[in-house]
Amino acid sequence: MLPDSEPTPAAADRVTLFADVVLPLPLPKLYTYRVPYELNDQVVVGGRVLVQFGAKKTLSCIVAAVHETAPKDYQAKYILEFIDDAPVVTQPQLKLFRWIAEYYLCTLGEVINAALPSALKLSSESRVQLHPAYKRDEHPYPLSEQEEKIVDALSTEEGKALTFSEVGEVLGISSFHKVIKSLMQKDVIFLFEHIADKFTPKVVKKVRLAHHFVSEAALESLFEQLAAKAKQLDVLMRYIQRVPVYQNEHLNHRGLEKAALTSSPHLSPSAVNTLIKNGVLEQFDQIVSRFPMDDDPKQQMPFALSEGQLTARNEVLDHFQQKDIVLLHGVTGSGKTEIYIDLIKNALEGGGQVLYLLPEIALTAQIVTRLMRVFGTRLGVYHSKFSDNERVEVWNGVLSGRFQVVVGVRSAVFLPFDNLSLIVVDEEHESSYKQYDPAPRYNAREVALMMGTFQGAKILLGSATPSVETYYQCRAGRWGLVTLTKRFGEAGLPDIELIDTRRNQSPGANGQPKRPTHNFTPELTAAIEGRLEQKEQVILFQNRRGYSPFITCLDCGWIPKCKSCAVSLSYHKHAHELRCHYCGHHDQMPRECPACGSMALRMMGFGTERIEDDLKIMLPQAMVQRMDLDTTRAKNAYQQIISDFEQQRTNVLVGTQMVTKGLDFGNVSLVGIINADSIIHYPDFRAHERAYQMFVQVSGRAGRKGKKGKVIIQTGDPQQPIFDKVMRNDYVQFYEYELEQRREHLYPPFARVIKITVKHVEERGAQETAISLVQELVERLGREAVLGPEAPYIFRIRNFYLQEITIKLSREHTVLKHAKAQILESINLIKAAKDFKGARIAVDVDPM
Ligand code: ADP
Ligand code: ZN
Ligand code: ZN
Repeated sequence: MLPDSEPTPAAADRVTLFADVVLPLPLPKLYTYRVPYELNDQVVVGGRVLVQFGAKKTLSCIVAAVHETAPKDYQAKYILEFIDDAPVVTQPQLKLFRWIAEYYLCTLGEVINAALPSALKLSSESRVQLHPAYKRDEHPYPLSEQEEKIVDALSTEEGKALTFSEVGEVLGISSFHKVIKSLMQKDVIFLFEHIADKFTPKVVKKVRLAHHFVSEAALESLFEQLAAKAKQLDVLMRYIQRVPVYQNEHLNHRGLEKAALTSSPHLSPSAVNTLIKNGVLEQFDQIVSRFPMDDDPKQQMPFALSEGQLTARNEVLDHFQQKDIVLLHGVTGSGKTEIYIDLIKNALEGGGQVLYLLPEIALTAQIVTRLMRVFGTRLGVYHSKFSDNERVEVWNGVLSGRFQVVVGVRSAVFLPFDNLSLIVVDEEHESSYKQYDPAPRYNAREVALMMGTFQGAKILLGSATPSVETYYQCRAGRWGLVTLTKRFGEAGLPDIELIDTRRNQSPGANGQPKRPTHNFTPELTAAIEGRLEQKEQVILFQNRRGYSPFITCLDCGWIPKCKSCAVSLSYHKHAHELRCHYCGHHDQMPRECPACGSMALRMMGFGTERIEDDLKIMLPQAMVQRMDLDTTRAKNAYQQIISDFEQQRTNVLVGTQMVTKGLDFGNVSLVGIINADSIIHYPDFRAHERAYQMFVQVSGRAGRKGKKGKVIIQTGDPQQPIFDKVMRNDYVQFYEYELEQRREHLYPPFARVIKITVKHVEERGAQETAISLVQELVERLGREAVLGPEAPYIFRIRNFYLQEITIKLSREHTVLKHAKAQILESINLIKAAKDFKGARIAVDVDPM
């Protein structure tokens, strides 16, 4: 938009400005655009501008730098429009994003693309729609004429959407982005890129008295009519008690949450519904903000720390005098979270911002409740189950200072903090901090460390089972170490019992290997029954979802495989179909073997769905709930499952690794690991470490409050040395053994690993590209540094054949930087070669 009131500067003192912009695309370098003279004073580094890219597409991008040097190789196009008056990406963020791109060998565009919620990325394909909560006559902000025009155009039918180009047509102008932004800020419209991102507002069901019953006289006669209906009367009395319409009739309008009546133990939910059906109460939906705007009156002080916790807290603070990074190594249930809360409070009092990272959304559900009580409206929450618009709300809330503490999963490291004083990385050993695909393949723990360095923040890593790399830094004296060896309060660590499943095997037939016939050994079944009788709760862990990992024909041995991936299809009973866990492909469950026609199709192995099913048959009185990828797709599913288990509406929680991490349930006294063997055998140098962490963490869910907990591990190989280490609960012994292995085989922390994956639709194409790439790499890095190529265990995914190359480098920083440049050079050479056109190459620095 041209500011028409301001005089154009005299031609003589015109400065030509250029802006380097980051497009949200995997482009190797920044593009330079020219700033129109009239708008020289509007350029904001970190703000968004709209540019043309390619023949047709317009895109929003971030200004990374402003200067006076025209690009050498091309004629700079003009910037079309300025969207922001203030940065949406701060200077510290840009610095961090550059580091991520450099360290993880990807482009700045890829980082920006991952970092920005898509509602901050505008393109000609973006669309707008009226906000569902928007009511024209009740809206508090006046609208401009142009804004009114857009609202008119969007109001013609329910749910109408306009693309950006249509908005331009409605207004008859080409620079309309500020109008859109202003409408968004006023909550009149929202923006989405894909239909899937459409905004679903959070709605609560409420009830209120039908308006003709609101007067005192009408109520009296209503009570008379219902005199014989005691249950309905109870409901009405409660309503009037909570919403005193006798005193003020207007209160009725706001009504009461329906759940306040239906979930009360003294009231009958069916009476509530009868009153609604008979028109006495009316039900309505109310849209609420996801983030409370008022502080909860119940806001509480955090727990007073125990003596042990106080000592640990003080040790952390002491270390922070000299060191920036401290590891809090505390056994499961030792009260680490309460120590974090105390330190966060302390940091906020000093005026800084705090980031609290968690590895799993399942965990945020529980921790947010704990933090909300202490930090109220200052707390923001950031994760992928939030809609894009909610993510923008948090993003802007960090920029404006509304949110001083943010709890989030790995992508929260991208938020626009500029004054962090503390970063907590809870469960720092977790591999879910690492993004596998697509680029940037970053580890949020490492990014947090760098972010802390840039912003002068202290970093607290916490874990009961620290990663070998982290513990190594502590032992070397570079990072501080604080240890908590006891659980909080009276609770002791649980007893662990190994059950040998070979004793439960059926004899193998026709030379086939023996397989356990039962997923529940008699010991485990008895233990579950015993705990349920005591009204205690149980967690069962199995690391496969679905009903059975594969099916097979007993007559000819046929096994259904995915047509795009080199894996067998899992049977999902609920959907009654076969699914690929790698590409999502699904097939109907065949009735007979397509190879030989036999009806003898047998389910092999156990997934969580089967565990749940079998348990319901064995113990019909138990309330069983399952938590895995399939049951947590819906937005609030985690919250629901966890609160049902917390409130003891369910007795047994069956799940994949989601149930093993960090969750805190006071009444769980038994944890069962259905099949430990599938966790141990994993072809990777971290397999041993991961298995140890998994067993200790899942065990850590038992007996957290007072009651003695018990863990039952079912295995076909109880002699495995890992069990001994888990049962001794001696982390240091585990660490020392593991460190020796790493030293001997030259793995982290003694070396850096970079993994390169070559993908090609043809197997030979993948092989040939990989072999040539290896030649380039060997030439530059030497033979010892390069391993492979070799096909991974799952050698084909989504129609692409895979070949992997592993590079091991010394940890010296300069060597590393140099080596990375060499790797990029090799990859770019191969990418540019005609022979390898069909190949894709992905680099993963520090793979997990
Ligand atoms: P960790 O994070 O080390 O696994 P938690 O912080 O979850 O342990 O603490 C375990 C349990 O003990 C939680 O239910 C927590 O509420 C309780 N707890 C911890 N510290 C205190 C305290 N100071 N006062 C009361 N309860 C506490
Ligand atoms: Zn067959
Ligand atoms: Zn597949």
